Amino acid sequence: MKIPLVDLKAQYSSIKPEIDAAVQRVLDETDFISGSAVTEFEKSFAAYCGARSAVGLANGTDALQLSLLALGVGKDDEVITAVNTFIATSEAISATGARPVFIDNDPQTYTIDVKKIEEKISPRTKAIIPIHLYGQPAAMDAINEIAARHNMVVIEDAAQAHGASFKGKTVGTLGRLACFSFYPGKNLGAYGDAGAIATNDEALANRVRMLANHGRLKKYEHEIEGYNSRLDTLQAAILSVKLRHLRAWTEKRQQNASTYSQLLARAANIVTPVVHPDSTHVFHLYVVRVQHREKVQQALKEAGIATGIHYPIPLHMQPAYKHLGIPTGSYPVAERFASEIMSLPMYPELSADQIAFICDTLIKACQSNTTSKPV
Ligand SMILES: *Cc1c(COP(=O)(O)O)cnc(C)c1O
Repeated sequence: MKIPLVDLKAQYSSIKPEIDAAVQRVLDETDFISGSAVTEFEKSFAAYCGARSAVGLANGTDALQLSLLALGVGKDDEVITAVNTFIATSEAISATGARPVFIDNDPQTYTIDVKKIEEKISPRTKAIIPIHLYGQPAAMDAINEIAARHNMVVIEDAAQAHGASFKGKTVGTLGRLACFSFYPGKNLGAYGDAGAIATNDEALANRVRMLANHGRLKKYEHEIEGYNSRLDTLQAAILSVKLRHLRAWTEKRQQNASTYSQLLARAANIVTPVVHPDSTHVFHLYVVRVQHREKVQQALKEAGIATGIHYPIPLHMQPAYKHLGIPTGSYPVAERFASEIMSLPMYPELSADQIAFICDTLIKACQSNTTSKPV
């Protein structure tokens, strides 16, 4: 049985007539930049998040960078973020001229450890970007409380968490603004690069919109110098079709996750994801921890099962951040987990049979490991 990490073909097959019709409509209208499909998608995506505004952008990395710029973050500022994330989060910080300041992850939820934030706040700290990692919201009440006390703005990196919620509030409304990616493999994925921000602050939304469109809101009048980071009309049309299915797909992901967790519960040496009682987790990724990971991955690969690692090298140990001079050992949780975490196949179309086969193979592969769980 061949099981990929993500199966984009299975999803396209299930909605092909709707997608093809939406694409054809854009081709017929030839309004490829800022066409009506963009405005329609922005409206429905804002409604989905329960936010007042959404602005479509070229990708999630730009969403982060333009959000920081719109909030006035720049040279000599510091921005706090988690050390276990995709490099896009810290790249966006550096691109504004600011410096990323990393925090270790919580050993239960793998999101930013709120107990370790305050020790890293300096007079230069302007903002904090918590990541809703793997699809689970960060502890947003504690983060907002710390941010308010230190006059920092909160930007959600919601690239992996479309539709997740914390204490009943949807991701996208838990900070000053939220950044989304629609990279094809994300829970809501375009057929190319795409992204967005969502916020209740309409003035801020307009500022991001202006930055993404050469510094203008009107055709020939440029208030400032900006960037070119608009959402393509074609991608917007595709995203609007897919957004209508997102709730159902998210439920399937959650069902798949609970099937995994039930089947893996009997294996004492496999750590399964913990969902915080205040959160709903949308399972962009289903991440377990095991010992002797390379050997386990190899056994799964031989059985046709793809796995991933998100992420194998904590950011402070990446060559790109050598200049920050952060010694190994600075982030003990992230460093230890980096050698144990493993992402199992996760997508809505994954079948119960496939999950059973993955769990059987995984449990067998871990049998020769020590019986103690990785702590
Ligand atoms: C995917 C991702 C991004 C970047 O999104 P792109 O659309 O690929 O630019 C940012 N942060 C996180 C946590 C991501 O997973």
